Amino acid sequence: MNVGQNQHKQFDELQATALFCPKCRQATPVRQRLLLFLPDGELHEYLCQYCGSSVGTKKVTQQPDFQLVAR
Ligand SMILES: [Zn+2]
Repeated sequence: MNVGQNQHKQFDELQATALFCPKCRQATPVRQRLLLFLPDGELHEYLCQYCGSSVGTKKVTQQPDFQLVAR
């Protein structure tokens, strides 16, 4: 598995976020993955890098001109 540690930046968002993990009982570095697509954006999930459990989600709203509109 490729768990890259911010070797290069993805988009302009901060990736080096630390969130509190209930399992590890401490703030841990997280990685982000795409959870599901929404009509107006995407839902990203934060996973603890130590135990892999989900520690939070974030909704990313897409730019209007970035959307692929099929009509
Ligand atoms: Zn954890």
